[in-house]
Parts: sequence; structure tokens; C-alpha cells
Amino acid sequence: MKKLVCELCGGVDLVKSGDLFVCQSCGAKYTEEAARKILDININMSGYSKKQIDNFMELASRALTSGNWNEALRYSQNILENDTGDYRAWLIKGAVTGCLNAINGNYNLSECVSCLTTAISCAPEDQLNRQSPILKACLFFTEIYLTGAFTSTPSVMT
Ligand SMILES: [Zn+2]
Repeated sequence: MKKLVCELCGGVDLVKSGDLFVCQSCGAKYTEEAARKILDININMSGYSKKQIDNFMELASRALTSGNWNEALRYSQNILENDTGDYRAWLIKGAVTGCLNAINGNYNLSECVSCLTTAISCAPEDQLNRQSPILKACLFFTEIYLTGAFTSTPSVMT
């Protein structure tokens, strides 16, 4: 749960009173709808709306699947600017950097591995079973690393 911060004075002590939230420092009153808007703003530091983020996510995975890696990388970075804890964006960024390196014959996967590790640490528990895209991506790149063979975009990522 994110903290509600008063837009007028920056106070964090807002107490629900009836249908309103009242700032205990300056007395400003917020309706529930207004309070929700403040929460949204606080969550999205970069100013992207949730809808824009969902849109970036869809564009990023589409770009990844069709092999437009630089494009996918850009969208994943847009998402991470907004929320550095978005595991889906770390997954895409890891996959993209892995692919970009491998296609250039560079089998140093340290950046890829570091992004995937971050994805794992940010992901909810139910995203860490054997069927999850993150773990599939880890296996995919491990195999690339071991065999030195890279032929196509990992379909496991979608
Ligand atoms: Zn206030």
C-alpha cells in the first residue's frame, strides 16, 4: 500500500473521516476519488499513466517476439523509468540484451543474467514456477551460453 501524501502541505497523516480523507497537518479534505488520484500520481513518478504502462508492455513484448530488439529495449526502459520493480520489464530487458549480444557473437551474458536476476527478485511467487517466462528465459540463455548457438528470438518469452 502506497502512502497518501497531502498535495497542499506534503503531510502524510491523512485520516479517513466519513467519506473524506482529512490531512491532519493542514486540514485539507480529499474525496475518495481525489485520494485515489493522488495515489496514482505517487506511484507513477515518471508521469506515465497505468494505461500507458500497459501499452508499453504490450509494445515491448510484441517487439521482442518480432525480433525488433532495440525497440523492445526502449519500451522496457520506459517502463523501468516508471517503476524499477516491474519484473516483466526486467524480463524483457534481460531477454533483449541476451539476444543482442548473442546475435553479435558475444556470449558474455552478464547483463542479461543481471536483468533476469532482478526480474526474479521482483516477481511475485506465482511467477517463479517451472512454467514461468522468467525461468524459461533463464534456461534459454543458459543453453545459448553452453552451446554458443543462437538462431532465433526465444518464443518462450511470450
Ligand atoms: Zn495537508
